[in-house]
Amino acid sequence: MKFITQKYAIADEPMKVFIDAEEIISILNDAKPDKHIVKDIIDKSLNKTRLSMQETAMLTNTSDPELIEMIKEGARTIKRNIYGNRIVLFAPLYIGNKCINNCKYCGFRASNTDAVRKTLSDEEIINEIKALEDNGQKRLVLVYGEHDQYNPEYIAHTVKLAYSVKKGHGEIRRVNINAAPLEIEGFKTVKEAGIGTFQIFQETYHPQAYTSYHLRGKKANYEYRLTALDRAMEAGIDDVGIGALFGLYDWRFEVLGLVRHTNHLEACYNVGPHTISFPRIKDASMLDFGSKYMVNDEDFAKLIAILRLAVPYTGMILTAREPKIIRDECINYGVSQIDGGTKLELGSYTKSVNEEQDLNKGQFRINDNRSLNEIIDELLDHNMLPSFCTACYRLGRTGEHFMEFSVPGFIKRYCTPNAIMTLAEYLIDYAPEITSSKGWKVIENNINDLQDEKLKDKIRDNIKRLKSGERDLYF
Ligand code: SAM
Ligand code: SF4
Repeated sequence: MKFITQKYAIADEPMKVFIDAEEIISILNDAKPDKHIVKDIIDKSLNKTRLSMQETAMLTNTSDPELIEMIKEGARTIKRNIYGNRIVLFAPLYIGNKCINNCKYCGFRASNTDAVRKTLSDEEIINEIKALEDNGQKRLVLVYGEHDQYNPEYIAHTVKLAYSVKKGHGEIRRVNINAAPLEIEGFKTVKEAGIGTFQIFQETYHPQAYTSYHLRGKKANYEYRLTALDRAMEAGIDDVGIGALFGLYDWRFEVLGLVRHTNHLEACYNVGPHTISFPRIKDASMLDFGSKYMVNDEDFAKLIAILRLAVPYTGMILTAREPKIIRDECINYGVSQIDGGTKLELGSYTKSVNEEQDLNKGQFRINDNRSLNEIIDELLDHNMLPSFCTACYRLGRTGEHFMEFSVPGFIKRYCTPNAIMTLAEYLIDYAPEITSSKGWKVIENNINDLQDEKLKDKIRDNIKRLKSGERDLYF
């Protein structure tokens, strides 16, 4: 297979994919790490340079516990020194689970006759969003199965609807999308609705493995999916999220696939992915699935740390698929976004809080059922700064992760103050007393840690304005 870094949409040229499985396997086979090599690679990443596929393979092939600890420590250092203590919070909102595809791992697959199919009506979407706003959510990812009904116009309609719903001080300020690949025109339609990130996970980067899990429907076309985010870029969406579903093929291969995808986007569009996701396969309705590639907890933690080192400038998302204990540990390896108060069953944000998960109504089982407030409370206990910030994308500062990473002072100038502003709004509008008192202490500590006295005054002034009823103040 030929290997390209040129753009996908070159007129009259046949489409070529940028993943060469044989190349990845030979890179993995050739990588023989030792202590010096691993140390040099970690240092390179700490010096703010993305790793090559060969260097990443050295890390994936490391098995010495002492060296694995070095890798994790490197990832912790990047998280601590570069990104600091902020964690961005969001919630998924499933809009519809009709699906023409038959992904073997998914509860929504067409052959699952037990799945309860539903598409939220506009009224139900509005009610779900009001319930999410009542919890304090500001950032959503809307999720759709693949179906004619969920065409670009419909996706754009639901995005606009989400932005239009305001309840009390509540509003949704950023809507990301996780949906099937579109044509360039379709991506343009969705972009015009004002989306944040368009996420598409390749599931597995290995072409033959991909074919074995996606036997029917549009998703059976590996190349169409692989080049989806190129079409998004061609449509002017420069904020894209990549991901692999870990457990479908060898995790080392997937990590290199993600790095290759990143290189490709950087080389062709001068901008890497905004986020990387690394879901692991979870239980689902009528799951007809067995795989020798399921990733254990140890390898999962290791691969997150490796991804942090390999692509140090990109946002990393860890969802409620994982239990609290894994999330608590892996946040330290560089995760920047988590979901909170997550519910997957369609229409469930308006239902009572403690309802049991019904797998026939959701895509898979989630393993962290904490409410948004419980998560915020625990983040505050660990002196972390929960953030609902949406300032960069609304001010057109695209590539914010890259700026956080590469522009000296960016985090202190923008990210920390904006995290403080959005946390203050949450504390004023939604938090119970116990969370609120912890939160104001964390805010005060974070203000005190800033050096710029004028900025400190401005933040304190903004907090006064928030307390007297103004909202949505940002730097
Ligand atoms: N239907 C669209 C598609 O396939 O691109 C939207 C994505 S789907 C609703 C969201 C993602 O969930 C999938 O891309 C897949 O990686 C993940 N997923 C599917 N089944 C899963 C399972 N059993 N456990 C964990 N994640 C799963
Ligand atoms: Fe449909 Fe997406 Fe589930 Fe596949 S992963 S069956 S495309 S909803």
